[in-house]
Amino acid sequence: MAVLVTGGAGYIGSHMVLALVDQGEDVVVLDNLSTGFRWAISPKAKLVVGDIADQQLVQKSIADHGVDAVVHFAGSIVVPDSLSDPLGYYFNNTVKSRSLIESCVETKVQYFIFSSTAAVYGIPSTNPVFEDANLAPISPYGSSKLMTEWMLRDCAAAYDLNYIALRYFNVAGADPAGRSGQSTPRATHLIKVACQTALAKRDHMDVFGRDYDTPDGTCIRDYIHVSDLIAAHMDALGHLRKGGGSKVFNCGYGRGYSVLEVIKSVEKAIGGPLDARDAPRRAGDPPELVAGADKVRVALGWQPQHQDLDFIVQSALAWERHLQRRNDAA
Ligand code: UDP
Repeated sequence: MAVLVTGGAGYIGSHMVLALVDQGEDVVVLDNLSTGFRWAISPKAKLVVGDIADQQLVQKSIADHGVDAVVHFAGSIVVPDSLSDPLGYYFNNTVKSRSLIESCVETKVQYFIFSSTAAVYGIPSTNPVFEDANLAPISPYGSSKLMTEWMLRDCAAAYDLNYIALRYFNVAGADPAGRSGQSTPRATHLIKVACQTALAKRDHMDVFGRDYDTPDGTCIRDYIHVSDLIAAHMDALGHLRKGGGSKVFNCGYGRGYSVLEVIKSVEKAIGGPLDARDAPRRAGDPPELVAGADKVRVALGWQPQHQDLDFIVQSALAWERHLQRRNDAA
């Protein structure tokens, strides 16, 4: 039996691969290497370079390796890009996911774990936001992911397929053992951008909006350490393999931090100020997004280990320094 990880060369996917091989699982990575890195993949995993919508390749990979579970990370993830390129996002995230799911149904893969997002909630009327809240994405990114959740729901009803969709809040940090981290040079996510600024890889950073209706005027997010997020995936896999049914869970800690609090944490870690400049609001940003985070704990027994913003920031910074050393050595 093996697990197929799509997008296993990417930030979150590469951490999943590490967790699976650490558990002695056979792992097949399917990645087109458009944004991921070959070096990010554990040497204990098998890499198939290709597209999730290449049904011949996917079905052959599933059959050749006896795949019983697919963990699907591959996709486009930048909210602002999705506003300027909605058709690209629907194609990559929705159309191609449909093709992948069809390959799973054709080859009788029983278990499917899907990277969904808190962006399915849009601007929630209350925070924390629970799984049964109104689903009203305000970006094509959120819509493209929600459509995939719906395909999975309908396929689980029609076929012998069980799934878990995990709605990620703001994923950050790096493998505490230093084996992987967020490596995209043009990343847009706050903690990554702040760490790059801290190490002078950028000359300054922007704070997108200081006039939100929040205590310090900046947006609030629920930052979750990537290793805790992966632990939820491992719990989800165990649940499905034990015969557990299809479910949707939020993945966050239930505690929000503002943009300025994140910047302060980075400043604390480096012992000096960051050049963070006020900038206009960024389109598609809800003011506050904090997970109602109980359901995954109760249903899967998830026990997060790194619920401390300073720890998340320190591990992200350690990875950024590692990347800097790599580049200096290159
Ligand atoms: N943000 C910011 N400056 C940056 C990147 C992000 O002020 O350079 C803000 C962004 O407007 C949002 C929060 O940080 O309020 C988190 O954004 P991110 O892109 O990390 O994740 P998202 O919540 O969009 O998935």
